Amino acid sequence: MRFPENAFERTGTAVAAGADGMARFECGVCWQVYDPAEGDPVWQVAPGTPFAALPEHWTCPNCEAARERFLVLPDV
Ligand SMILES: [Zn+2]
Repeated sequence: MRFPENAFERTGTAVAAGADGMARFECGVCWQVYDPAEGDPVWQVAPGTPFAALPEHWTCPNCEAARERFLVLPDV
């Protein structure tokens, strides 16, 4: 898989931060949040599915942005 150059660093960060499996991710385009505790009813992703385990073809359920556009949300 190839990423746009400026997305590579973000993706690396996302993978590292998502290692515990329950990090939330925010769409960099429309700010939609993917919460692993809730899954994604649009894509029929079961609750408890970590972002890293989403299907390769998963896109933002709101704006259809690619996975690479998502940024990890700091746990607050
Ligand atoms: Zn979006």
